[in-house]
Amino acid sequence: MNQPLDLTVMMYHYVRDPGDDAEAGSGISGMSARAFEEQLDALSRQHTFVTWPDLRMALQEHKPIPSSACLLTFDDGIRDHYINVFRILRDRELSGLFFVLDRFEEDGLVLGHKIHFLLAKLGPADFREAIWEKLDPALREQFTRAEKRYQLKYPPTSMDGQIDLLKAVLQRDLSADVNPLLGDLFEMHVGSENETARSYYLNLEQIREMRAGGMHFGGHSHNHPWFDWVDARARNYEIKASSEWLQQFEPCPWAFAYPYGGLSEDSPNLLKTHGFIAAFTTKTQLRHSDPYFIGRLDGEEMVQDGSIHA
Ligand SMILES: [Zn+2]
Repeated sequence: MNQPLDLTVMMYHYVRDPGDDAEAGSGISGMSARAFEEQLDALSRQHTFVTWPDLRMALQEHKPIPSSACLLTFDDGIRDHYINVFRILRDRELSGLFFVLDRFEEDGLVLGHKIHFLLAKLGPADFREAIWEKLDPALREQFTRAEKRYQLKYPPTSMDGQIDLLKAVLQRDLSADVNPLLGDLFEMHVGSENETARSYYLNLEQIREMRAGGMHFGGHSHNHPWFDWVDARARNYEIKASSEWLQQFEPCPWAFAYPYGGLSEDSPNLLKTHGFIAAFTTKTQLRHSDPYFIGRLDGEEMVQDGSIHA
């Protein structure tokens, strides 16, 4: 990139209301459809919305993008994006860039989403207890050590702190070992994981309908691991899986969003090899000097802060 890119990139996850088809009684909360629409109103007063093809051309051909440009992005390829977001964007003739996981019907839920369901069902204390019961002595020791280490970053003095601490331990140090255990807990407390996953992630039919309606898609890996936790071989596998998935419905070159915003130095090269020309982080940043580390603002957090202006 010749000069830094000035671009406001919004990041969204769950957009849902209690009891709607996206939330579906799961108890997992998100940004309400109304708050999302209000934020779009506020953004449209200050920004010119751009699409993924606009940004792709800017990066490929060094064409300028409008000043105060804003790109809307959505992570995890969840049904909220088909049920709620697609409708809202289409009504406003806007486009979004959706970072989807490549999930086949039999793949079930990624670890992070199993955790969301179980946390909503059990709460952090009972959830922690239920996992602890299932760990053997070696894993308990690993769990305790990891918990001690992350306590500095996520002090468990509040409910949010407890949740973040538990997530860090499960999504990083114990991720490989607890994944099947969480599958068991899911079946016990929530229901069939595969059946849930089937309607939880966007299927190809929905993706194609969204594409025909002006939406665009980027990669977000297969297993959703922390890229600074897994090794280079795993990172390569995750990125390659995304490129194979995207080939079915989005023209190359693509964009990528790092799962959990986890970064590693070799990611840009791996991404380049597999046809990606841009990648998005979760770092709050409005000016970007590297197309493989484009920062974003969390729309839902901005509502909670009361700072709707962007
Ligand atoms: Zn994600």
